[in-house]
Amino acid sequence: MIPKRLAAALTAGALVLSGLTASGAAAGSTPQPPAKTPTAIGFGGAVSSVDPEATNIGLDVLRRGGNAVDAAVATAAALGVTEPYSAGIGGGGYFVYYNAKNRKVSTIDGRETAPATMPKDAFINPATPGKPYNFFPELVTSGVSVGVPGTLATWNSALRQWGSLSLGRALQPAADLADRGFVVDQTFRSQTLDNKDRFSAIVPTAKLFLPGGDAPQVGSVFKNPELAQTYELLGEKGPSAFYSGPLAQEMASVVKNPPKAAGTTLPVMPGYLTTGDLAQYKVIDRDPTKVRYEGLDVYGMAPSSSGGTTVGEALNILAPQHLSKMSTPQALHTYLEASALAFADRAAYVGDPAYVKVPTKELLSRGFGAERSCLIDPDHASVKPLKAGSPDGSYTPCAAGVASPQRPDTEGLSTTHLVAADKWGNVVSYTLTIEQTGGSGITVPGRGFLLNNELTDFSAVYVQTDPNRIQPGKRPRSSMSPTIVLRGGKPFLALGSPGGSTIITTVLQTFTNRLDREMTLPEAIAAPRASQRNTVAVTAEQSFINAYGAALTPYGHILVPAGAPGSSAAEIGAVAALEFLPGGATLAAAEPTRRGGGSAGTVHQLWPR
Ligand code: GLU
Repeated sequence: MIPKRLAAALTAGALVLSGLTASGAAAGSTPQPPAKTPTAIGFGGAVSSVDPEATNIGLDVLRRGGNAVDAAVATAAALGVTEPYSAGIGGGGYFVYYNAKNRKVSTIDGRETAPATMPKDAFINPATPGKPYNFFPELVTSGVSVGVPGTLATWNSALRQWGSLSLGRALQPAADLADRGFVVDQTFRSQTLDNKDRFSAIVPTAKLFLPGGDAPQVGSVFKNPELAQTYELLGEKGPSAFYSGPLAQEMASVVKNPPKAAGTTLPVMPGYLTTGDLAQYKVIDRDPTKVRYEGLDVYGMAPSSSGGTTVGEALNILAPQHLSKMSTPQALHTYLEASALAFADRAAYVGDPAYVKVPTKELLSRGFGAERSCLIDPDHASVKPLKAGSPDGSYTPCAAGVASPQRPDTEGLSTTHLVAADKWGNVVSYTLTIEQTGGSGITVPGRGFLLNNELTDFSAVYVQTDPNRIQPGKRPRSSMSPTIVLRGGKPFLALGSPGGSTIITTVLQTFTNRLDREMTLPEAIAAPRASQRNTVAVTAEQSFINAYGAALTPYGHILVPAGAPGSSAAEIGAVAALEFLPGGATLAAAEPTRRGGGSAGTVHQLWPR
């Protein structure tokens, strides 16, 4: 039932895994985090996320009869406890859902919105001739960057439409986890230390995340009883206790008056969020994006995220190229070029469709994909940045491009992705974020959670023709790409990743690795990554440069390592994914090493036992 190659790859993984578990257990009475299993196969439902506590909570919900939506919300709420710098009720995200009953894919856009009074020059430093504030830490660590959070409304909407649990019951396991605490690992400590300067600048954040002035030690237990109380309050009273009332007033007030620590040199500028903005917030049910690739239907998130259109367009560009028939260097060259072309169009055309006309249908048309595909030179990397195409419904092979705006890519490296499936065949692919690791750095006093800095996903400098310019009430363009792939109308894959705009290339690369390069899903995830986002150089993991640099340089690709060596920024993405195997078993997969390794599990587990 399990394909042979997969079984072989998993057996190799099992050896590594049992080694890790044994060394973990040997540490004696020091509290140990639950074991991480990056790959699991079984029946009855599955969950994969970056964190073992969160994955276990999702699996528990499934074991008790909950469905995939219940499990996804419970897992997400738990990630708000254990990954508070990546996700939580202070942020937003995109929820993609396959309903087994009607075989339909639906999505919820839970993106943050700009406050009603946000001016178009909000990011411009008045002391300069029209230049934006320094991005990090100044602009990120400010009330100005805080958008109206959409996560709680997303959970509520998903549960009401497709879940079986009340919001209160879905949040309870995470509230209990926040109360009893979790064991701090190196990733949590490092993320706290990376943010130490800006966290210490804001009183409630220093109090919560820097107890005694330092990041919590590895092996210590980190509790967040204030977040537990907040979850309990919201569980009891519902989303109205978030979007109105005392909590809404406190959020507006902390953004207007960030409580700065004495002596801090960071400006921590006040922002625009009001109780009126919170009261107005609404999630949006959207049709998913859909493209056909190698006989599969690939569903993604439509704008305000650029994920679905950019992954989808790149797949349409790749379709006529037939990657599976190419050598590895040729396939990688083609993948990099397709991605650059799709990113040129993303910059020119994608923004919040409530504010700008986005040609979503044409960006995703086969004709446009073929027109763009024709521009790929099989032997040479194109000169970047590439011009955008014209998704206007009339296509001629290799049409010349039009100027595509080039703006610095300032998206962060935070965020988290989870996938869940249940025994009825429903599937969730959900990416959520507070943008930068640590978001705006502003904790709502006494409530246990950080507010996002999502508005820094807008272009910093206002240009009238830019689809991602600042406008009041608008959703900043995202790159989040929660994806569900169907084969013959039934789920085949669900995947997604964090990583700012590299989310798009990570999803694309992982998917094509699995489809076209004969890799199993765990291999496709573990494989070295590179990201070409229409820039002169390709950002790549060192392992990618080591493996393919010599073969790709002759094409003219310039590969530069991502981030500082050894830092988490040297990694690209952190995938969580599911594959639905022939015979009804599910393969749940997470990262073996990136971000300290993720955690996958199934309800009736066949492997590992
Ligand atoms: N804010 C980013 C986006 O919406 C995600 C943040 C990240 O992954 O770093 O695309």
